[in-house]
Order: sequence, then C-alpha cells, then structure tokens
Amino acid sequence: MARHDPTSAPAAGLPAGMQARLRAAGIQPTLQRLAVAEVLLARPQHMTADQVLAAAQRLLPGISRATVYAVLQLFTERGLLRELPVTGAATIYDSNTDPHHHLVDVETGDVLDLPAEALQVTGLAEALRGVRLDGVDVIVRVRGLAGRQAPRRA
Ligand SMILES: [Zn+2]
Repeated sequence: MARHDPTSAPAAGLPAGMQARLRAAGIQPTLQRLAVAEVLLARPQHMTADQVLAAAQRLLPGISRATVYAVLQLFTERGLLRELPVTGAATIYDSNTDPHHHLVDVETGDVLDLPAEALQVTGLAEALRGVRLDGVDVIVRVRGLAGRQAPRRA
C-alpha cells in the first residue's frame, strides 16, 4: 500500500484526474463538485438529478439536493454535461457531450445513445437558410427498449 502523503493526496477516495478535468473547465474542485463529477462524469451515461443525488450521497453523505442541482447547472454551463430535451420526464443529464442522438423509451424513461453517424438527417437546407448550424440532436421515442444494447458504431 502506498504511503499516505496528506499534502498531495486527492480528496478522500476521489481520483486526481477528475480534479484536473474540473480545473480545465474553469471549475474549482470542491468535495461536493468532485462527488458529482465522480458519479456522472466517470463514464458516458445518462442520469436524472435525483439519481445523481442518491449516488453522490453514497460518496459524500450530507451533500444536499440544492448543492447537487447547483453543481449540475454549473457543469452544464461549462460544457461538461448536456441536458437532454426529453419532455414529460425529469431532466436527464448526459455526460457524453460529443454529438450524438438518443433512443428514449417513453414507458420506462430508459435512454440509449445513437452514434451521430447512425442517422442521416436530410432536408435541413431550407431551415438553415440565413443561420449557422450549431448541432442536430435527434430523440427517437420508442417502446420496449429494455435490455437493448446501444447500436455499434459503424
Ligand atoms: Zn447520450
């Protein structure tokens, strides 16, 4: 077991890489922010604020709902997360900020990524006249998604 050096140790059990990632986004890595980052940013995934709260409380008991919501807002503003515009459900936060689309099960709320190249969106030329394209996010609403794997990248 490595010797413990209190002057260089990352915050309790949280990897130093995540601190660097927050700093790179201009975010001071407090314990609360690191807990939310560890829950949500460690891998590509989709979670509601309540799911993040429950998982963050296992890492950092006592972290409040208001704090988790504020951190989610901050991460979204700084481009570490994006909110999925899924109506009729709690806001879903996506830690994969690369361009991609989604399959959403309207009965269960389950979300799967669709690689950007998996869909062709045609007919945009008219809508784009006089404006700049910033992104295309397609949400495909389905039923019976449970157990399906994300489509493979081409
Ligand atoms: Zn996604």
